[in-house]
Amino acid sequence: MATLDRARIKELKDREDARFLADHPRSAALLERGRASMPNGVPMAWLVGSYHHVPPWVAEGRGARFTDVDGHTYSDFNIADMSMFCGYAPEPLVRAVSDRMARGNQFLLPTEDAIVVSEELGRRFGLPKWQYTSSATHANSEAIRVARVATGRERVLMFDGKYHGHFDEALVERGPDGSLVPEERGVPADTVEGTVLVPFNDPAALARALERRDVALVLTEPALTNNHGLILPGEGFHDALRRITRATGTLLALDETHTQVVGTGGLTAAWALEPDLVTIGKSIAGGVPFGAWGMTNAIAEILVQRKGPDGERANLVATGGTLFGNALAMAAARATMLEILTPEAYLSTQRLGARLAGGMRAAVDRAGLPWHIHHLGPRSGYTFRPAPVRNADEARACADELLTRLIRIWLANRGVWEAIVGAGPVCPVPATDEDVDAYLGAWDSLLEALVA
Ligand code: PMP
Repeated sequence: MATLDRARIKELKDREDARFLADHPRSAALLERGRASMPNGVPMAWLVGSYHHVPPWVAEGRGARFTDVDGHTYSDFNIADMSMFCGYAPEPLVRAVSDRMARGNQFLLPTEDAIVVSEELGRRFGLPKWQYTSSATHANSEAIRVARVATGRERVLMFDGKYHGHFDEALVERGPDGSLVPEERGVPADTVEGTVLVPFNDPAALARALERRDVALVLTEPALTNNHGLILPGEGFHDALRRITRATGTLLALDETHTQVVGTGGLTAAWALEPDLVTIGKSIAGGVPFGAWGMTNAIAEILVQRKGPDGERANLVATGGTLFGNALAMAAARATMLEILTPEAYLSTQRLGARLAGGMRAAVDRAGLPWHIHHLGPRSGYTFRPAPVRNADEARACADELLTRLIRIWLANRGVWEAIVGAGPVCPVPATDEDVDAYLGAWDSLLEALVA
C-alpha cells in the first residue's frame, strides 16, 4: 500500500494554487472590486470561506459546463451543489421560464402548473399532498412546524453529520465534550434544547433518544450526502428507523434535496421507504428557487383552514412566504420534471456515474492507495480509508483537508470543477463520456503525482 508524504501534498498544492491564481487575473480583480460593496467581495460571504483560492467568476453555463471570466471552461461535477443537476440553460427550462416571465411570474394567486407539479411529485415520491417554499431550507422548517402541531411535541431529531439548511434547529452540533452547541455564531444558545442528535446507522441510540416521546420529527436524508462525502445506511437501518419512529409516535421526514439525483422518486422510491413527509428543493425546478414538502393526508388535514362563520381565519399553522409557490417556480418545476428529469435522463446519468466510479477505483488500485471509492447512481466520491464510513465520527477520523483541497485545485487547473470540497463528483443530466474522460484523466494524473 502506498503511503502519502505530507510534504509532497503541500508542495503540489502550493504549485497548483499559484498556477490557478496566475490563470485567473480577471476573477481576482472582480473579487477585489467586490470587497468594496460586499463582505468578502461576494454575494454570500460564507461562499468565499469554502474556497482557499479566488473563486472563478462565471461568464456563462451551457449543459454540463460553465465558462469563467478568464475564459476557462470547466466540466462541472458538483453542478452548484447539485442544484443544477439538469445542467445549465436546458432548452425546456429556458422556454418555460421565458414564457412565464413574459406573462407574469408572481401573483400571490395559484396557477394551474401548481396542480400539475403536485400530481407529479405525488407520483414520484408516493405522498398525496404538497406545499411549496422557495428553498429546501424552508421546506424543512415548514415540515418541522407542521410536525409539531401533528404530535404536540417540539423537538427535532437529526443525525450527526447532517445538513438540512441554514435554520436555527439544524445548525447544532456536538461540541468537544459531547454536549450540543450552536454550529456557528448567530444561532441562539438555547436552540440546542429543541434539537436531538444521534449517530447515523445506530438504531439503539435512536430508540433511546425517542423513548421519552418528546420528539416531533426525525429529519434525515435517506443516505447522508453532506459534509462527509456519502454515508450509506447499513442493512436494515431504514426498517429500524421506520419501526422505532412509528412505535414512539414520532413523524419521519426524508430530505431528498440531494438524493433525488438517483432517479424519479429519489431514494424514497428506489428503496420503497415510507416517510410521513418528504422535503425537496434545488434541482427539482432546474435551479429556479423552489422548495416543496409532501405529506400524508392525515398531516395535510392539519393545514386545512376551517374558517369561522364570517370567513375569519382560524387554526393557522405558522407557514408561508410571499414568493413561495410562485408562478415562475411552478412553471420551472413542471418543465424540469416532465421534460428534463425523465427516466431516460436518469439512466444516462447512472451509466456515467458507474463509469466514473469504476475509473476512479481503477486509478486508486493502480496507485496502491488505501482509499474507498463510493458509488450511488450518478454520484461517486472518495474516502481516505479502505472501508466505507458508517457515521460522521468515522468520516471525521479519516478526513484530510489539505489533500481534499489539493484534489479540487488540481482538477480545476485541468478543466474539472468540484465546488464543494470532498462532496465527490456527480454526473449531471447533460454530462457526456467526454466529461467523464476529463475527470478520470485529471484524477489519474493527480494520483500518479501523489505517489511518484
Ligand atoms: N437539505 C439538504 C439535504 C441539502 O443538501 C441542502 C443544501 N446543501 C439543503 C437541504 C438546503 O438547501 P438550500 O440551501 O437550497 O435551502
